[in-house]
Amino acid sequence: MNQKQEDNKKGDKPKIGFSRYFLFLVSLIVFIAVFMYGPKTEEISWMNFEKNMLIEHDVSRIIIVNKETAEIYIKEEKLNTAKYKALTEGVFANKFGPHYSIQIGSVESFENKLEKAQQNFKEEEKIGVTYSSRTSWVNIISWVLPLFLLIFFWYILLRRMGRSTNVGGVGSAFNFGKSTAKLMDKDTKSKVTFKNVAGLKEAKIEIMEIVDFLKNPQVYTKLGAKIPKGVMLVGPPGTGKTLMAKAVAGEAQVPFFSLSGSEFVEMFVGVGASRVRDLFKQAKEKAPSIIFIDEIDAIGRSRGRVNALQTNDERESTLNQLLTELDGFGTNTGVIVLAATNRADILDKALLRPGRFDRHIYLELPNKQEREEIFNVHLKPIVKADDVDVKVLAALSPGFSGADIANICNEAALIAARKKKEKVAQEDFMQARDRVVGGLERKSKILSSKEKEIIAYHEAGHAVASWYLKHVDSLMKVSIIPRGKSLGAAWYLPEEHQIITKSQFIDRICASLGGRAAEEIIFSEISSGALDDLEKITKQAYNMVTFYGLDEEIGPMSYYDSTGQSETLFGKPYSETMAQLIDREVQDLIMTSYERTKKLLIKYKSQLEELAQLLLKKEVVYEGDLEKILGKRSLDIFSDKNQS
Ligand code: ADP
Repeated sequence: MNQKQEDNKKGDKPKIGFSRYFLFLVSLIVFIAVFMYGPKTEEISWMNFEKNMLIEHDVSRIIIVNKETAEIYIKEEKLNTAKYKALTEGVFANKFGPHYSIQIGSVESFENKLEKAQQNFKEEEKIGVTYSSRTSWVNIISWVLPLFLLIFFWYILLRRMGRSTNVGGVGSAFNFGKSTAKLMDKDTKSKVTFKNVAGLKEAKIEIMEIVDFLKNPQVYTKLGAKIPKGVMLVGPPGTGKTLMAKAVAGEAQVPFFSLSGSEFVEMFVGVGASRVRDLFKQAKEKAPSIIFIDEIDAIGRSRGRVNALQTNDERESTLNQLLTELDGFGTNTGVIVLAATNRADILDKALLRPGRFDRHIYLELPNKQEREEIFNVHLKPIVKADDVDVKVLAALSPGFSGADIANICNEAALIAARKKKEKVAQEDFMQARDRVVGGLERKSKILSSKEKEIIAYHEAGHAVASWYLKHVDSLMKVSIIPRGKSLGAAWYLPEEHQIITKSQFIDRICASLGGRAAEEIIFSEISSGALDDLEKITKQAYNMVTFYGLDEEIGPMSYYDSTGQSETLFGKPYSETMAQLIDREVQDLIMTSYERTKKLLIKYKSQLEELAQLLLKKEVVYEGDLEKILGKRSLDIFSDKNQS
């Protein structure tokens, strides 16, 4: 076992110095207790002192401390008398004195009083006064103790923080600058291999090359080629970037350092840069090796935006250090850096230039074939019923990422287990899919019958509008069972498009307005139920006008900023006149679509009512029933030509 792993072990199961702290705390408490309850000098009044001690010739000495307190010492032989018994008995016996103390007003008045009290004494019996100045313990402790406690807690806090952030390190306040990367190597068997990664054929081929670079570098260097240093995996969340990196580690059988971009950044300045240095140092020592930085956008965001609110020197210095390290090591050191992000557009250009992360591997959302393969990977450990049809599952999950599919498979198994089934059936997968898309069914949500009616008409409105619009995806089912946040839903079977045409945009907006339009037509009253629809279409309409250049009046212009480096974060990149024009065009677009939808629903009002009634009765209406009520879907029933 190597040093790092030992460190890991320590990091996992830190030896907390609990007993040490405990001992320390106990001694502190004992100290305070002794201090407070230990041999004590009793404070007495002058009268008591004069009558019971001075006159009786019991006093041996008087010391005036700091001109404030007179300390009284009792003669040793008198201590044994009954009067002073309390002083010499018990745990806190006070044999040596001072035995009593008196707070004095002023030294002079005390001396005068003493003089007066002793005037009848013989000369040799008179007690004199000596003076002493001392620093009081109480004073010292009263300012040392809080300071001490403060330092003590600060230390504990730092240790804790050090431990919680230092996964790989020993975990102490002084290890901040150490890299927090997790290390996997041959001993820590990474079980993921390329077999676990389904689909992503092109990406796999490219990344296999990296494995080959590490295993047989001489094949490439012999011909004078330089081995790439950095590879950037780019793609939407859940498409398997991390999985791919893990598979590389599993296949290459070389040490693999993995950490997330955000782990570099700590609240202390300079820590990130120092961690980067440490990470590369460790990787070089173990070369050939792979460093994997997940979510690199946390540090790799473009620098120097003119935006005072967002400047982050710590992040910038971390990024600079990363760039320096990438430049710093020679191409043949045998270290390859993999990084993953879903926002390649906002990354600093310096990070992507040749010699750094110059290889980009794009992972996209899987197509139908790939989804089928991913389903197959995740269905393997599941006990399936015979009716499970992977092809159907793949077809019914367009736009789903690998992570979504993994989630569906797991949900389905959980649903089947809840129903105490022996095997997971197709129906469970369908339920899991609906749940992943729309959230949990909430049958217990209480709705009044009027509300139910409004929801039924609203959903029927969506269904009827989309049924007769040419460019809307085909409808699978309509439901008015509350699920997640929504009270009802129309479920579509989206086709996979790479581009969307203007007519498709408009038809989709109309379908989304179907709910609101139905409410207005049937009840002559509109409700708040269309919030989600309205939010969606407003955004869509603004995108059409300002990004995609789909508006005739404004023309083929786009204010989209793919660099993410817009310097006008607080202002708009267009004039006030243009802003007004945009607003007007968006409003026009939406109002025209709304009128069009209303016209369509009025035309098919009887179907709308029939469907709404069926929904109220059955709660869920499937394609078959939809077809019975609305007729076979003939796609040009209400195409653009028939609008007027
Ligand atoms: P990200 O791209 O966000 O890093 P991950 O790699 O973490 O996504 O993927 C999350 C999970 O999704 C994985 O653990 C895996 O179970 C599943 N997954 C994603 N893509 C695939 C794929 N191509 N093949 C098999 N499983 C996948």
